[in-house]
Amino acid sequence: MPLELGPRYSQETEAMPTLLRLDADPSAVSPRRSPQGDGHRARARIPARIPARVVVVSLMLAGCAGRPCESEAQDPAAPSAPSTSDKTPNPREPARHSGAIETAGSTGSPQTIAIETRLDEPAGPLPDDYLAFSRACDRGTREITIAAVGDLLIHRELQKQAFRSPTHFRDLWSGVEGLISAADVSYANLEGPTAQGIDRRGNPRKDPGMVFDNRVYSGYARFNYHPILVADLVTSGFDIVSTANNHSLDRGPLGVDRTIDTLVAAKLPYTGTRRQDQQSAPWHAITHVEGITIAWLACTLHTNYQEDALGQVLRCFDDPKTMPRLVRKLARRKDIDAVIVTPHWGKEYKHEPIAKQRRLAQAVIDAGAIAVIGSHPHVLQPWEKMTASDGREALTMFSLGNFASHQRDLPRRSSVVLYLGLTQGEDGTVWVNGARYVPITVRMEGNKANFFVERVDAQSGPREVYEHIEGLMGAPNRADESIGAGAPPRTNPQCYSGFTTP
Ligand SMILES: [Zn+2]
Repeated sequence: MPLELGPRYSQETEAMPTLLRLDADPSAVSPRRSPQGDGHRARARIPARIPARVVVVSLMLAGCAGRPCESEAQDPAAPSAPSTSDKTPNPREPARHSGAIETAGSTGSPQTIAIETRLDEPAGPLPDDYLAFSRACDRGTREITIAAVGDLLIHRELQKQAFRSPTHFRDLWSGVEGLISAADVSYANLEGPTAQGIDRRGNPRKDPGMVFDNRVYSGYARFNYHPILVADLVTSGFDIVSTANNHSLDRGPLGVDRTIDTLVAAKLPYTGTRRQDQQSAPWHAITHVEGITIAWLACTLHTNYQEDALGQVLRCFDDPKTMPRLVRKLARRKDIDAVIVTPHWGKEYKHEPIAKQRRLAQAVIDAGAIAVIGSHPHVLQPWEKMTASDGREALTMFSLGNFASHQRDLPRRSSVVLYLGLTQGEDGTVWVNGARYVPITVRMEGNKANFFVERVDAQSGPREVYEHIEGLMGAPNRADESIGAGAPPRTNPQCYSGFTTP
């Protein structure tokens, strides 16, 4: 059935294009959000939610039952110890993290659960290779966590798998869906069109449905994915995608239009491309969550020699002034709290960023971006803190590698879910409070028939992937293995008592 545009749709365009009819179960896209039923945004607003990793620790059934134990640390900002009648602390509001709370135990006796105490300074000395931001512990009025993954490069084998599965494309990444939906805003690079009924030459033709026919739906070197992919991304909790990349024009100008139709119909904001008939449409998209408004801006280094006569894809480097100018304009807007740039850039299969990447990152950060999250090399490139000319700190992740692909060698199947934490102060200013990551990989199963994106951990491995990722990203910022059960990792764990690194 046709899908209506809802009030939360936040693509800023000249006019909404014709709605697309998806030949899929509409419940898969509306209401959007995670497979757990309710939306993760909604969950993030529930004051009583306490992440499993925060609730530590001691269930004290005797001695101090009925009141907070004296030995437990108290937040000096808290006027008095919380009691059973107090509102349960909201983990999103760090100023309220303190002391202890009480719950009814299974025996009916009150149990006291100690929780971490929020600190104003990092707890103890930090490891040398810990990526930390100087305003990590500054208290604000709200914090959000953004999750970002790399390239969705859905090769032939993966498309066939999706068409075999009742959960379609989610079959590929259902193992990490909790890591995506746990964040307040989740991002991916959608590398290729989702152009219904468009063949390899960019012409309309009868749509084959969910079939890999290699004419309408195809893999390398000219990708096109069935639009159910977009519905699946929404169901998995993705909130924003880049559409500017070297495969943007794999179905020509009409393919860009049809892809946008699919995204609009699914209410999934996109950035970096525009329709033929919307030549002055903005390149950016907006996400609003927890009172923080983020503008996202994607660009690409090229479009694989496909001519872009109508200027439908934003280029990163054609004019060095373009990206800083666009960012500056967004950063000056009063209704935008933060700008994140997602460039598709760099040398394929190289772990080191080139000078051009560094220059663009610095230029857009100087212009007001709070983070730069890159893709395209198909392997991980490092992350670092960069400082703007006015002293603001920003995160640059040069390349996230592949999120889902058929590329088999170790670096190309090794990636991360990146978590970026933002804090907003009383005056509305937003700053980076930290960054963490969870290692992930694409596991192959059953004589190369099935591919699954899965997390990698210290215990169950795969060991070589784990070591490869940790070698590139460092150990201290790896998120511990208890996350993913409804809450993202803390991005500034050093600002809480009991801080340890992996
Ligand atoms: Zn690419």
